[in-house]
Amino acid sequence: MKTFESIQNIRAHLSTLKHSGKHIGLVPTMGALHNGHLSLIEKSQQQNDITVCSIFVNPTQFNDLKDLEKYPKTIDADSKLLQDIGCDVLFSPQVSEMYPDDPTIKLSFGELESTMEGASRPGHFNGVGIVISKLFNIVQPNKAYFGQKDLQQVTIIKNLVKQLNYPIEIITCPILREENGLAMSSRNTRLSADDRAFAGIIFETLSFCMQSVETDSIQHILQKATGRLENSRINIEYISCINLETFQPTSNYIKTKTAFCIAAQIGGVRLIDNVIV
Ligand code: AMP
Repeated sequence: MKTFESIQNIRAHLSTLKHSGKHIGLVPTMGALHNGHLSLIEKSQQQNDITVCSIFVNPTQFNDLKDLEKYPKTIDADSKLLQDIGCDVLFSPQVSEMYPDDPTIKLSFGELESTMEGASRPGHFNGVGIVISKLFNIVQPNKAYFGQKDLQQVTIIKNLVKQLNYPIEIITCPILREENGLAMSSRNTRLSADDRAFAGIIFETLSFCMQSVETDSIQHILQKATGRLENSRINIEYISCINLETFQPTSNYIKTKTAFCIAAQIGGVRLIDNVIV
């Protein structure tokens, strides 16, 4: 595996490969890699000649500085994992390489970002949009891989690609879970063993919502789900049923176009999860 920290050097390396007709897949991450990330890498390896994984904890997408400071950083272990699964290229730039100056550009995604993560984390999708645009311009992949775990994010990236005509296919990959249903996340390493076991309640609640949708009203399901989650150990940020095309709350269930989404803090760790019905 080749590792680059410099934009100029990774560009030069990939340019040679592209000229020889190689297809490139990009998996953008913030590191502290787990099996969820590795499933995206494997998907890219199946569909491309060269897989590039980027590891960059992007400061512009954090609205909470403490959250940024606490974000786990395990670059040596990540690099070894990537090497072991045969990833071709690791791009792990420093903040000064990606942002020699503070970006003044602003990206907005209209109603798609007016709810859930967009509403809870002001400026988050502006930062995501900027860093992903930069990575797309640096790597120029044929395909890029994102997890359904960050459902609003992947929808916004598809919208970015459409609005700015990036010649890149966006592939959405399924959510990998722990045995108790907890969606794998780099943040899970900050949970105590007890909280990690308890956090299974998030997926249990989402599964309850999914099972109830044919027989109960959305409003009633959300009430019951909130009741199930309410507990002194959990701080619910939102529990929403949204239309997947608009990301607006919906009370009408349309098969494959409806999702239940939860954001909650357990032991001070912010967790998100969703199910598409
Ligand atoms: P992150 O490092 O958290 O920014 O995640 C990098 C990519 O991995 C994003 O596209 C995430 O949606 C995806 N991802 C994170 N957790 C999971 C998971 N449990 N299963 C599948 N993909 C995931």
